[in-house]
Amino acid sequence: IQKLLYFLSLSFSQKYPPVKFLSEKDRKRILITGGAGFVGSHLTDKLMMDGHEVTVVDNFFTGRKRNVEHWIGHENFELINHDVVEPLYIEVDQIYHLASPASPPNYMYNPIKTLKTNTIGTLNMLGLAKRVGARLLLASTSEVYGDPEVHPQNEEYWGHVNPIGPRACYDEGKRVAETMCYAYMKQEGVEVRVARIFNTFGSRMHMNDGRVVSNFILQALQGEPLTFNLSSAFVSKLLSSDLVNGLVLLMNSNISSPVNLGNPEEHTILEFAQLIKSLVVSRSQIQFLPEAQDDPQRRRPDIRKAKMMLGWEPVVPLEEGLNKTIQYFSRELEHQANNQYI
Ligand code: NAD
Ligand code: UDP
Repeated sequence: IQKLLYFLSLSFSQKYPPVKFLSEKDRKRILITGGAGFVGSHLTDKLMMDGHEVTVVDNFFTGRKRNVEHWIGHENFELINHDVVEPLYIEVDQIYHLASPASPPNYMYNPIKTLKTNTIGTLNMLGLAKRVGARLLLASTSEVYGDPEVHPQNEEYWGHVNPIGPRACYDEGKRVAETMCYAYMKQEGVEVRVARIFNTFGSRMHMNDGRVVSNFILQALQGEPLTFNLSSAFVSKLLSSDLVNGLVLLMNSNISSPVNLGNPEEHTILEFAQLIKSLVVSRSQIQFLPEAQDDPQRRRPDIRKAKMMLGWEPVVPLEEGLNKTIQYFSRELEHQANNQYI
């Protein structure tokens, strides 16, 4: 019977990815809003494996349970179906505030909701941070720089945003979210961290988010032409695992001013299409489309601040990141094909 119990406990403990042991004083209670999304679920994995207690709050607008299902039932993990536009009363030490649709089709789907999530949602999370004395990290974006007039963009640049354009609900929403962070810092003493995240890719990204990596991989895997508009003539892409390491370093640093997290390595869009085509071993054609309105011409991060103050820079080679993402997309396509008649 003892042997049986031992094997049962072994198989039970193997149900979850391995988790480090942390002593009570090092273990933090961490809230991740938007934790069932692409970036949030990778952050959940890292913080869980590091041994922390993680609460994911998500309304499942663009996120999904499947992204975090491997933690469901773990004693350190909790998943709450909640919209951050509504107040939230819990006790935590740190808040990673990621809740917001991130890709253009998603945030343009309901611009008013995008504005509410980024404004009222951020206000609520700052109110929570104030009440419980937690530190809050805002997942801001390179979109605060708009269609930039300087290259590369450093954190001192104020941006060039069209306040009434189709992307404004997101760009201006994030800009005001940053403003709120610093108002709460100055007026209420809330500890804030602001990550200005540049375009990121990786497994669990939305397959139909309309951006270049997902478009090209899907098109190449399905043998369709790789299509793009000339306006986005340069691409720089960060892998989600590099981003997540940067977010955790920033949260635990003493830098309260905004920090760019992105990949400064730039490729022309054509190079990118050719690279993906060759990694997928696809015979797809490459095709140009007309320009999209207000699409930034070019965006490239200056990451000297992150390098100097956090010792952070992207480390995973582009091809390795793309290969992992291609594998994920193939598995997802297979999963969809197998489930379409259920
Ligand atoms: P995502 O869409 O995969 O994740 C966002 C998550 O937030 C989803 O799980 C969604 O369901 C949830 N959410 C949305 N509105 C909510 C609400 N009102 N209440 C609760 N949950 C809500 O996007 P992502 O790429 O993982 O982005 C995460 C964060 O990083 C976002 O704040 C985004 O603006 C920022 N960011 C991402 C990128 C990128 O390239 N992926 C670039 C810059 C900034
Ligand atoms: N809030 C929350 N959780 C908390 C504390 C506050 O969601 O634990 C919300 C609250 O509903 C409020 C917002 O955060 O609307 C801002 O809070 P703050 O205390 O700054 O403002 P006040 O409640 O004084 O208006």
